[in-house]
Amino acid sequence: MKRRTLIKLSACALSPCVNAEENEYIIDIHQHVNFHGRRNPDFVAHQAAMGVSKTVLLPSGAQLSTESTHLGRSNGLAARIFGTGAAKRLTDQYPDKFVFFCNEIPDLDNADRELEKWLKAGAKGIGELKFNLECDSKPMQRVYEIAKEFEVPVLLHFQHGKYNKGFERFHKMLEKYPTVNFIGHAQTFWGNIDAKHEQSVLYPKGPVTPGGLTDRFLSDYGNMWGDLSAGSGLNSMTRDLDHAAGFFDRHQNKLCLGTDCKDTVGSTDKCSGSQMIAVVREMLPDAAARKKVYADNAKKIIKGL
Ligand SMILES: [Zn+2]
Ligand SMILES: [Zn+2]
Repeated sequence: MKRRTLIKLSACALSPCVNAEENEYIIDIHQHVNFHGRRNPDFVAHQAAMGVSKTVLLPSGAQLSTESTHLGRSNGLAARIFGTGAAKRLTDQYPDKFVFFCNEIPDLDNADRELEKWLKAGAKGIGELKFNLECDSKPMQRVYEIAKEFEVPVLLHFQHGKYNKGFERFHKMLEKYPTVNFIGHAQTFWGNIDAKHEQSVLYPKGPVTPGGLTDRFLSDYGNMWGDLSAGSGLNSMTRDLDHAAGFFDRHQNKLCLGTDCKDTVGSTDKCSGSQMIAVVREMLPDAAARKKVYADNAKKIIKGL
């Protein structure tokens, strides 16, 4: 059998406006204010260039030097990203374009009060959680308890040995908090679509053997969702297009479009987000299935989108 190639993706890389031309409603569940210093007008223009209608802003926690922030090196989600107040301000400025989540360093004494304050002020979820903690540690479980109480989703950055460690045990959290929707993101989440994944490799290449941890969590747990954003999401789907077609088909009710790119272009190969939008279009030619990944799945788990 001839292997798949991404015809539309390469066309998209040459054309500035392929996404917008389709006139589809696209929700981006993963973006940031001040991403590596990107200014707000450039950010707003970037989202429009990608053809995104609504964007979820994921803020950082406090700027502190703790073990859980790698002594401050992971402050600002390790990308100079601003905190919840800034995300709320941009949402207040453009209420039709943005919603915001809240965040705090989970092992701070006042983390619960801080998250509760923002959830009462309109935050639609918690994350992105990107801290040097075990994913099933006490501080993380305190966050999951708050998510349960407020009925909001939690978005986690899984990165082997660095953030939300112990992904192989995460199913215990999925079982313990069945009413909390967990949205998985980043290298270790996407590497583990492959049953033969080597955990120390962050951007694995080549053919995928179905049945990896992530594949199983998405199949077996109604509260596990996938955030397609970033180079990790894009790599996981472009490394083996035959596998990706099956993966999109079997998880079309669980995957959400996200971008998490820091560029100011919003198109071409400089923008991983617009490339992911094109991959979804290519992999899900059926408009009804595509609409789920572009918008409807996110609406199911993020109230008020
Ligand atoms: Zn991010
Ligand atoms: Zn981009």
